[in-house]
Amino acid sequence: MAKNEQTAENAQLKDIIAHAKEYGFVYPSSEIYDGLQAVYDYGAYGVELKNNLKRLWWETMTRLNDNIVGIDASIFMHPTTWKASGHVDSFNDPMIDNKDSKKRYRADVLIEDKAAAYENAGDKERAQELLNAMGRLLEAEDLAGVRDLIINEGIKCPISGTSNWTDVRQFNLMFSTQVGSVAEDSSTIYLRPETAQGIFVNFLNVQKTARMKVPFGIAQIGKAFRNEIVARQFIFRMREFEQMEMQFFVRPGSELEWYKQWAETRMKWHLALGIPKEKLRRHDHEKLAHYANAAMDIEYQFPFGFKEVEGIHSRTDFDLKSHQEFSKKKQQYFDPEINQNYIPFVVETSIGADRLFLMTLCNAYVDEEVDGKQRTYLKFHPAIAPVKAAILPLTKKDGLPEKGKEIFDALKYDFNIIYEDAASIGKRYARQDLIGTPYCIAVDHQTLEDNTVTIRHRDTTEQERVHISELHGRLAEACSFRRIFEKV
Ligand code: ATP
Repeated sequence: MAKNEQTAENAQLKDIIAHAKEYGFVYPSSEIYDGLQAVYDYGAYGVELKNNLKRLWWETMTRLNDNIVGIDASIFMHPTTWKASGHVDSFNDPMIDNKDSKKRYRADVLIEDKAAAYENAGDKERAQELLNAMGRLLEAEDLAGVRDLIINEGIKCPISGTSNWTDVRQFNLMFSTQVGSVAEDSSTIYLRPETAQGIFVNFLNVQKTARMKVPFGIAQIGKAFRNEIVARQFIFRMREFEQMEMQFFVRPGSELEWYKQWAETRMKWHLALGIPKEKLRRHDHEKLAHYANAAMDIEYQFPFGFKEVEGIHSRTDFDLKSHQEFSKKKQQYFDPEINQNYIPFVVETSIGADRLFLMTLCNAYVDEEVDGKQRTYLKFHPAIAPVKAAILPLTKKDGLPEKGKEIFDALKYDFNIIYEDAASIGKRYARQDLIGTPYCIAVDHQTLEDNTVTIRHRDTTEQERVHISELHGRLAEACSFRRIFEKV
């Protein structure tokens, strides 16, 4: 990316962050105390959008697949869970400080950014070489080598502009706290850094009680916590966030077939949501985590470049096997079709609700000039838009508010709608555009005569006259998840 292009992209992110705050989507956490880094709160429209996205994911998983069921496991888990999963020993990121600016960075991210710069300048080979070199050093846990690589590549701190770097150190990302009321009895437990382990430790409970047969999946939505070294890019990298994970348990040997299938299905889901094909790409991992035999990310082109939104991993039998070892409880499944006991292999799909939210927001944000005037609106798919329709009486008198409220009352049980009668109609349209309401329903004098209203469409600003009796059906059709499900 050329420098001025990059500045324009960053400006776009700034606009989106400002818009999110101004119009009730996302605020910095505890803002009156100047906020808390990498922690955010969702406002009135943000929470509606996020809930819609979570419900869409949940229903895609559990309704469209009769072999997937859900659970809701606790955030706190027995501490041995994190020994077994490998998080205590190896959930680390390499960090490095610049001695002049006193800023802290993730060493691997500094190198990845350098590789991206090579790639953007057209030197893909050099980018790949650099990533390979980093992969080798991290694999060998050669942190001094990682530091040398940063220095040899001439990577400078963006704040101080110097290469005055400290050593690279490993930093464990798990938050810990004490459980137990008396100091002597208390023991260290962790805030889960991923929701997946809650699924693994419940594998047999769910399999038995929901009478599932392999292949089957368990889906979960919940909070996860990571003490990320650097807070960057708004809600892209948070210290408290939500994950939507599905672990799919399969017969050993069939995992790569399922992995392929899930990779395709998940990509289709993003497209069905209205994300343009050219803004999505698949990134296959070359360096695999210790538990995986195949892994890929679905990346979206954020204003700051292509970045991971969802990961799809073939996790082998690593987790269940390890829990079997640590708990000394068999984690086996008896497969009646082949008359065999085995520990199933697992294919995981893992997406952050907040990253999905950010992708949806970036994709929806339109700031364009129409007839010399600036127009900003959010073009959410109606099925996920926070507010589906606004009922707007043209004036505050002549019985129009009463008629408007009647329409509002008839629709409110099935749709999240807004009633508003203050300010000019133009201003009210503009306000709805800013929060992405797909339909504005104007009530005027003609409505009193023939029970028709105008529907104004957000994206085109075109208006059409329809009978009130049609409204429910129109909204139900446009806002139904079915329109997305059918494309998956
Ligand atoms: P990254 O490389 O960006 O740190 P990751 O590979 O560690 O991500 P996973 O452990 O695979 O991420 O987590 C699965 C998903 O959870 C990610 O695709 C992302 O959507 C989400 N996620 C992970 N870390 C964060 C975070 N700090 N803030 C928000 N979402 C996150």
